[in-house]
Amino acid sequence: MKLIEGAPIAEVVYRECETSFAELKAAGHLPGLAVVLVGDDPASKAYVGSKDRKCRELGLHSVKIEKPADISQGDLLAVIDELNADEAIHGILVQMPLPRHLDEEEVIRRIDPAKDVDGLHPVNLGKLAMDDPTGFAPCTPSGCQRMLLESGIETEGKHVVIVGRSLLVGKSLALLLMGKGKGANATVTVAHSRTKDLPSLTRQADILVAAIGIPHFIGPDHLKEGAVVIDVGINRIDDPASKSGSRLVGDVDFEAVKDKCEAITPVPGGVGRMTIAMLMANTIRACRLKVGL
Ligand code: NAP
Repeated sequence: MKLIEGAPIAEVVYRECETSFAELKAAGHLPGLAVVLVGDDPASKAYVGSKDRKCRELGLHSVKIEKPADISQGDLLAVIDELNADEAIHGILVQMPLPRHLDEEEVIRRIDPAKDVDGLHPVNLGKLAMDDPTGFAPCTPSGCQRMLLESGIETEGKHVVIVGRSLLVGKSLALLLMGKGKGANATVTVAHSRTKDLPSLTRQADILVAAIGIPHFIGPDHLKEGAVVIDVGINRIDDPASKSGSRLVGDVDFEAVKDKCEAITPVPGGVGRMTIAMLMANTIRACRLKVGL
């Protein structure tokens, strides 16, 4: 079994970012990312902190905007409008989920598609569906595709079964992998909570992607011998043996399936490492597209 770790692949992306950043800087341009955090959810705060830190490490202009949980929809849209007009900002990310009284979809639609480095604006999702390389693909699915590519796992002609149909992960990854070109050309099946007899479907997968949000959901009965497994899930479970009393696990029961797989991503240390790397890459690309470099 080969372990597909995220860190070394994320490093490859960061090295590319550094090269591209240096070219931009030499031409007098500084890529800028704004991250908007509403409320004080600890997990969201931690994600936003990591994004800000990575921007600074790479030398990008980083703006962190924190707003109270009771911000009105109008005031949040006004923040987006300001960032859309800000010449120093090339990428805008609104940390999800937003408090329940806010309309996430309207917020995403308000972001200038050219600055939508999270890739969730309808224009970018449309470009993804159309194989238009000028769009931005969502970061986690792009990270999964990059992991397959960098690990030398062929996708062309392979049957990929993705369990999960969220726009953020499953549906977007399906579009990426069924697209044309490198790291794509797969035959993709997308399963979800209404899929009948899931194990008989997932057992047909050459590459199985789990993006469900249920700890250890995928077990050996879901896999054929020699499958490649990409575990997108990040779930916190109780663990009295650990110092914090909990730990992170994936949607795949790693220990139970590892001997049946050709290759598998761990959790933590797998796909999760790729998301911020792809966000940095998208931000730098947004700047390049803006300045025509
Ligand atoms: P989500 O929006 O809740 O979507 C979950 C999907 O799983 C839905 O399509 C749902 O089907 C499907 N599902 C739920 N129960 C199922 C079942 N019993 N059988 C088959 N399908 C089932 O979650 P998400 O945002 O896509 O995230 C999925 C996981 O990835 C979570 O653990 C999340 O934390 C993780 N994640 C990780 C990263 C990262 O950076 N690594 C980024 C994003 C998300 P229905 O559509 O029918 O409800």
